[in-house]
Amino acid sequence: MKTKVVLAILAAGSLAAMASAQQAPQGAPGAAPGRPAGPPRGGGLPPPEPIEHVKDNVYKIFGGGGNTLVVVQKDGVVLVDTKMPGNGPYIDEQVKKVTDKPIKLIINTHSHPDHVGSNDYFREHYPNARIIMNEGAKEELSGGPRPSPALLPTETYKDRMTIGSGADRIELYHFGRGHTNGDTFVLFPAARLLCMGDVMAWNMAPFLPAGGAEAIAEETGALVKAMKGKVDLVEEGHGHINNWAGLVRLAKFDRALVDAAKVHYDRMDPPGMAVADLQKNADFAPLLDTHIKKGLEYGNTPRARANMNVNIAYLEFAGEPVGFGVANGQPLPATDKHKGSDPKDTAPPTPEMLATAVAK
Ligand SMILES: [Zn+2]
Ligand SMILES: [Zn+2]
Repeated sequence: MKTKVVLAILAAGSLAAMASAQQAPQGAPGAAPGRPAGPPRGGGLPPPEPIEHVKDNVYKIFGGGGNTLVVVQKDGVVLVDTKMPGNGPYIDEQVKKVTDKPIKLIINTHSHPDHVGSNDYFREHYPNARIIMNEGAKEELSGGPRPSPALLPTETYKDRMTIGSGADRIELYHFGRGHTNGDTFVLFPAARLLCMGDVMAWNMAPFLPAGGAEAIAEETGALVKAMKGKVDLVEEGHGHINNWAGLVRLAKFDRALVDAAKVHYDRMDPPGMAVADLQKNADFAPLLDTHIKKGLEYGNTPRARANMNVNIAYLEFAGEPVGFGVANGQPLPATDKHKGSDPKDTAPPTPEMLATAVAK
């Protein structure tokens, strides 16, 4: 229990610290003509943007924290994730641009504040709406120094859950510890669309808080196996809509990263050598790109992220603790158990990098 409390504190604290320590890149894609006046709702992250059509009855709202997916069903609207605190009215207003139906269901992909932050608004304004998350996510939200009763779900599930039927069927999957202890993958079978939460964001290796590198590789491996033949579109937790091939590449990359890290850890090589190995696979090029993505909320380039995750794998091999706030973005110090990493591999982005941020 104590470990979980500490993780929850670290999760909330370091996300906020990262968001404020790092200047938000300017000019997120399609930045917001017609956004109503008012205080910024991004909580230090890029503010939310107008609702975009994805396909059929599926829409997406970027920014203000994680992506919010909007699915208009027969008897109401389903939201996946509710962004940072204070975004409820804006999400509500954007949904009303595409339908008059009430919000009936909210699913949270995990417990981080940029994905559950505005649950309270929907609890208050749509008292009949169900709010569902994995039981591990509820536990994370219930602990810590500032438990958030207003953000809690109305229901939880353990491993699998099916909601609705026919064209409105939704399937929830949990494959164990990964980005958090309560990750949920949301499948909309009719749309052949899968929501990833932060296990996939900005088409790069995931920011690894609770689980560590091996857990993420196991989680994405199990996910790809279970979703084979069911998915065309993949909504990442932040950033753009990806596709099945992108998810398969990420799962292969997560596994290859741990394997390469193990080889070089055992040889007492520095972690950068594992990243150099990954670069030999041309298919992995997008996951090792050296540009900042326009609109990125926190973190660094895909290459820097790969370096961070190899560092985390090294800590795991050495039996040292991993988790949010531990080694994420920090160079790995040299110890008698492992070689240190090059600080520049995990350094925050420079103003020049931010100025040349790329759209994809
Ligand atoms: Zn997030
Ligand atoms: Zn997260």
